[in-house]
Amino acid sequence: MGETWHCKEIADNIKRQIINSGVKKSLLIITVGDDPASKVYVKGKLKDCEEVGFLHRHVKLNNNSTTKDIINAINDSTEDGIIVQLPLPEHIDKQAVISSIPTEKDVDGFSISNVGSMVLGKQCLLPCTPAGVVEILDYHNVDIEGKDICVIGRSNIVGKPLTNMLINRGATVTICNSKTKNLEQKTKLADIIISAVGKANLVTPDMIKPDSILIDVGINRDSEGKICGDISPDCDKIAYARTPVPGGVGLMTRAMLLNNLRYC
Ligand code: NAD
Repeated sequence: MGETWHCKEIADNIKRQIINSGVKKSLLIITVGDDPASKVYVKGKLKDCEEVGFLHRHVKLNNNSTTKDIINAINDSTEDGIIVQLPLPEHIDKQAVISSIPTEKDVDGFSISNVGSMVLGKQCLLPCTPAGVVEILDYHNVDIEGKDICVIGRSNIVGKPLTNMLINRGATVTICNSKTKNLEQKTKLADIIISAVGKANLVTPDMIKPDSILIDVGINRDSEGKICGDISPDCDKIAYARTPVPGGVGLMTRAMLLNNLRYC
């Protein structure tokens, strides 16, 4: 039976290191409109800041706000780090908003400048979810170099940056998407499978090779309404280890945000 890699201890270690360092930072979160999921995420981020003693401010803009309104709120900020919570309403020029966050305050690591540095393997603010995934592998002493890794999902916030970070560490990465043919042929060859799709039971035991490591980024609801990931827990019979949902990558994403803010 494979191990379950609960991530609370790793996330708590990161928070403890921040508290012990005595560093005091501040975060501005800008939200636009009333997206229910965003409300939950923002609440969590503010609570995390409290926990490590970081100051925080939440600017709530209404749904009719313009791109210029958001950029003005960014320009008025004196905080060390800035997040503009996504998704934004359709009429907003998302790229213009993200680009207006100064590189050194871009705590999400989404700006073109931080993404460019990440691709080149230079020191920068790394996007939190991919950074959290790499942290999990490092914590468990998984040697990324030379591993065959299958990343499922090619989004700008998870799959693409994660692929680049793994390539920079010497992995051979296959990155799959909704148009990929014969997904199971790719996953079956992988030492590590990382799924970031948003589809419950996408990865099943017949798709993995024995002793593979499974990292589950997906957040879904199962038929009973419970939170679950993309990877079936039945895979534990075959895999070496799997990160659970909840209690896995999500906790790491939150911890890595605080870690980024520490260096803003
Ligand atoms: P997205 O919708 O932007 O991207 C999904 C990707 O999956 C796309 O590239 C798409 O091509 C691919 N895909 C869809 N169906 C597929 C299939 N059948 N086979 C292979 N690929 C397929 O999503 P995202 O923002 O990257 O998020 C993905 C999932 O991860 C969601 O469930 C999201 O909630 C979750 N997520 C979790 C965290 C966390 O901290 N745990 C952070 C970000 C996202």
